[in-house]
Amino acid sequence: MDLVEVEQLISGRAYRGPFPPEIEAAYDAYRLRYRRRLIQALIVPSLVCYNVFLVVDYVLLPATFWLSVAIHLLFVSPIIVVSSLGLRDRWSLRKRDLCVALGPLAICAQIMVIYTLNTGSAAQHYQYLAILVLMYMNLLFRIEYDQAIIASAVALLIYVSALLIARAPVPVLVVGIMAVAATAYLSLSCNLQMQRDARHGFLRRLQEQLRFESAQTAAERDALTGLYNRRRLDTAFARICNAETDEFAAILMIDVDHFKRFNDENGHLTGDQCLRRVARVLLDAVRSKDDLVIRFGGEEFLILLPATSLAEALMIAERIRCEVEQLTILHADGATRVTVSIGAMASRLRPGMQDSLIADADRALYEAKQAGRNRVWPSLS
Ligand code: GH3
Ligand code: MG
Ligand code: MG
Repeated sequence: MDLVEVEQLISGRAYRGPFPPEIEAAYDAYRLRYRRRLIQALIVPSLVCYNVFLVVDYVLLPATFWLSVAIHLLFVSPIIVVSSLGLRDRWSLRKRDLCVALGPLAICAQIMVIYTLNTGSAAQHYQYLAILVLMYMNLLFRIEYDQAIIASAVALLIYVSALLIARAPVPVLVVGIMAVAATAYLSLSCNLQMQRDARHGFLRRLQEQLRFESAQTAAERDALTGLYNRRRLDTAFARICNAETDEFAAILMIDVDHFKRFNDENGHLTGDQCLRRVARVLLDAVRSKDDLVIRFGGEEFLILLPATSLAEALMIAERIRCEVEQLTILHADGATRVTVSIGAMASRLRPGMQDSLIADADRALYEAKQAGRNRVWPSLS
């Protein structure tokens, strides 16, 4: 996923989703983390509120009070706990939402079962409690809209079936169905709005994160060659030095020979092009993603090679030297090739040694220059 894609989704107001697969997967992962905390935090309040409603059974429907207590405690409360705690990590957001909806649906079923077992006017008031359950399910758990529609349809089915089975009086049937349908509609509308807000919020977070990452990457890159700059060197050194390993790490210090002359004769733009080609050779010469090629300054480059002995470093350096020469970038005389001199050193890295190690490699580079340029020189200190 990249910043442009995320910004297009934001400006296109594509909050309803689904997002493109990679972004949707990131959204799912983000929501799963948030949702687990929310759902688990709701267990105790849900159990308390739900069981407090036994007061209504006691007052309104004493005939089925103990049956209601049994269903509350032996069936519905355990379902609320298990459906909230038993969520599997590997389940998708959708599957989790449906599992979580089992709790409210069990409450709805309990209300309507007790309702069908009672006759008389008091029972006609009892069944309206199912309306509360719909709001609880669609608003509190933040289940995704599509799953909320499915769960609401099941709740409506349970509700209407129970009214029909209990042969509810026509006024109760009309008001009940209208009220439950309207509640489903209103709570689903709110649910959709919350989902859009959540998706919008997620895209904004992602945009912020990607902006930060791209700014950070830009700050660590050299604009001319695309190589990392010295800012990156400090973090890489810190990482390797703190790894507490006895392995050697090597540093190559590479400098283009007579580059001032090359620039003066061919112009700065041709000089830039030459630096880009040399940078390409350096990148191709390193082996793993752990090796770090840095534009150290002007026409100087540094390569940090973790877990590398001096002998290996000298081989890599010699390869680089040959390949730069074989680029056959010619000076103005039409015969002299652009070459590089390389100083190499290897040592066990310890915190705080960065400057002295670079100084060693730099000294070796100086000696390579003194010895006639276009050569690799080891630091023997
Ligand atoms: P030596 O062989 O001793 O290294 O000599 P040199 O001429 O390469 O070294 P010197 O330090 O005298 O000159 C380096 C030159 O590199 C001077 C500067 O114009 C050039 N240079 C530094 N950065 C850039 C750049 O970004 N683009 C271009 N085109 N030239 C650069
Ligand atoms: Mg130079
Ligand atoms: Mg130089």
